[in-house]
Amino acid sequence: MPRGSDAMKTPARSWVESANDAASGFPLTSLPWCVFLAGDERHIGVGIGDSILDVKACADRGLLHGLDERLLDACRAQQLNPLMTLGSAAWDRLRRCMTELLAEPINEAAEAKARDVEALLVKQRAAVFTMPAAIGDYTDFYASAHHARRVGSLFRPENPLLPNYKWVPIGYHGRASSIVLSGTAVRRPRGQRRGEDGRPIFVATTALDYEAEIGFLVGPGNAQGTTIPIAEAERHIFGLCVVNDWSARDMQSWEYQPLGPFLAKSFATSISPWIVPLEALAPYRVPGPERDDSDPQTLDYLQSTTTAMDGIDVSITVALSSERMRAAGMEAMTVSRGNLRSLFWTLRQMVTHHASNGCNLRSGDLMATGTISGAAAGSEGCLLEMRATRGALKLPTGEQREFLEDGDAVTISASAEREGLPRVEMGSCTGVVQAAQ
Ligand code: CA
Repeated sequence: MPRGSDAMKTPARSWVESANDAASGFPLTSLPWCVFLAGDERHIGVGIGDSILDVKACADRGLLHGLDERLLDACRAQQLNPLMTLGSAAWDRLRRCMTELLAEPINEAAEAKARDVEALLVKQRAAVFTMPAAIGDYTDFYASAHHARRVGSLFRPENPLLPNYKWVPIGYHGRASSIVLSGTAVRRPRGQRRGEDGRPIFVATTALDYEAEIGFLVGPGNAQGTTIPIAEAERHIFGLCVVNDWSARDMQSWEYQPLGPFLAKSFATSISPWIVPLEALAPYRVPGPERDDSDPQTLDYLQSTTTAMDGIDVSITVALSSERMRAAGMEAMTVSRGNLRSLFWTLRQMVTHHASNGCNLRSGDLMATGTISGAAAGSEGCLLEMRATRGALKLPTGEQREFLEDGDAVTISASAEREGLPRVEMGSCTGVVQAAQ
């Protein structure tokens, strides 16, 4: 039986066999959070292999040793908010506890415990996920320079990137009430746009688009009037999710000046059910962000001392299927591949910049990166860009898409991968477009 230093090591293998398959996406080192239905209750869970461990049930059965009452209460909550508020030391304690429960047993006592824990696993494919957190405020950034440049060139070919772009992380306040969980249908909005003859009309959008983004939930917030130094910014991030920020481009181009997006964006935003802790993504950090010598020097308050590893290597895939494709039994078509590491602004810069005027971030706020696009064709994170670089999308049925049609299903998926390490699944975010009301 292993003893001493062996027992102290963090075991890499789990007794949940499927977690040890490097392709499963849910290794012992990841343990992403979710909330799922257990009967008519909502329980917090963590993903492991092909299953979810019921965290609430673990707390109820006294399997989480050494945790204080507040942390145990947070484990029994119906959403992640109470846990998010407690901060990174509490998250780490709970994650260590979960890791011990799920690691290959090191002695007989642990083996007996593993048998108790096994009864609290639920298969992911049978689970019904619910909104992981109550989201208070939603802020959307514009952190991909490739996206900003490509969209800008449609309107200002000579000067695609506005002069402020590389100085200040651009963002706007979105709408939290219309954030929905992956799987929720998205109704095509009606709104004002410029008609053919230049006169505004009020009709169903004919330029419905998706935006592939990564979001993050704020853990502890900051008091109003205080700021968040860049070195502390990541301690305010509870975890990451996949976001589709649906957009109506015809409404957007008519309404966005001078104050920015409004009804073209506020009708729906979808998020994935999994919230992946930054700690789980630590081995997938990469040098970043992308800068070159001609870029201005970042102002002091946004300068990270750890800039060398400020990027995260998370690949993002967008897949689309039309109603006809699904009826014919065809698989969804992959339409683009991007990567979180290609952003110009980092997550910590977004947090620090947001609070730099004394604005209070609150636990449960969602921030999103903005559309993530790369430099290459094939990495455009929305149809608006794709249409400009590649023309209309040709589907295997012969159908064409400049923008989304009713019945189209969009799935945005993300995962972190690195040679020699298990894949870490961030989950996916799906929505089917419903006809306008
Ligand atoms: Ca957006």
